[in-house]
Amino acid sequence: MSNQILKINEIFHSIQGESGYAGLPCIFIRLTGCNLRCSYCDTEYSYYEGRNYSIKEIIQHISQWETKLVEITGGEPLIQMESIELSKELLKNGYQVLIETNGSQNIDTLPKEVIKIMDIKTPGSGESDSFDFNNLKYLSQNDEIKFVITNRDDFDWSSSMIKQYRLDEKCQVLFSCSDQLLKYSILCEWILESRLNVKFQLQLHKIVWPNDERGK
Ligand code: SF4
Repeated sequence: MSNQILKINEIFHSIQGESGYAGLPCIFIRLTGCNLRCSYCDTEYSYYEGRNYSIKEIIQHISQWETKLVEITGGEPLIQMESIELSKELLKNGYQVLIETNGSQNIDTLPKEVIKIMDIKTPGSGESDSFDFNNLKYLSQNDEIKFVITNRDDFDWSSSMIKQYRLDEKCQVLFSCSDQLLKYSILCEWILESRLNVKFQLQLHKIVWPNDERGK
């Protein structure tokens, strides 16, 4: 097994809160560091905090749980190139692997079996110039694209992106509200009026554990 080292912010077992896998038990491996600074970021603690783990240690650590669904997240996991090797080792060990990425890093070196949940950052995030459009070539029907909507401008901008790049033909497109900036009901009404082929999603973990910032 690879001895490559990654800087890890936290590893925990919880319920998947987002994506098509929402509601399922899942192991989360949160890598330290992010290249972006989104206005609504709720994981600022992951920018610098963490400790080094070898891939072998990670695999040993997560074997304490029966769950076979794992999400590699951050921060931005793909700024540590060792995350590619980690995903390969997880697959070899029989895990179903999700990776949550902010869309700014090249995803083509990830194994095709890894399910990519990729953000396209809206103007409201302050990071809408960060998206690597080459990544659209590497998505499959199993992957997901996520827009976090903060206001009507973000909604209109995201709608244009979906139409221009036919994103809903590539894979499932998810719309979620930025916490506290937009009401769920308003976003749902906009989705219904627009007839966009997108899926509204909640952050389930924040409803189940509203007072826990970490490890959920
Ligand atoms: S990409 Fe994610 S972790 Fe990085 S700043 Fe944006 S919301 Fe925070």
